[in-house]
Amino acid sequence: MHEMSYMIKFINMAVEAASDQPDSVIRTVNVRVGAMTGVLPEYLYKYFPDAAAGTRCQDARLNVEFVQVEVKCKKCGAIYGPAKENNYSCPACHSIEAEYLHGRELELVSIEL
Ligand SMILES: [Zn+2]
Repeated sequence: MHEMSYMIKFINMAVEAASDQPDSVIRTVNVRVGAMTGVLPEYLYKYFPDAAAGTRCQDARLNVEFVQVEVKCKKCGAIYGPAKENNYSCPACHSIEAEYLHGRELELVSIEL
């Protein structure tokens, strides 16, 4: 499961982010995951305790923000969530040329001490 390796990366990043405050307890780890990444929040939650054990995150709470896919049409500028029923095309002009605005996030947002 690749969620475990991402969880370890997130924890390393959180510990790194807290390194200038070595006496503080890391209480919350906020991460953001886009729908395009294939990473499922429920697995992040599931693996968090094991990944965090023995680190400064072991008593922290994980908070995953799941971001839906949102794209911008390169032809008409419409912003939409691609849907299978219209073959992921733009609902306004039916172009499939689009750039991703959201959905590829896989990042540590913040930590709370
Ligand atoms: Zn369009």
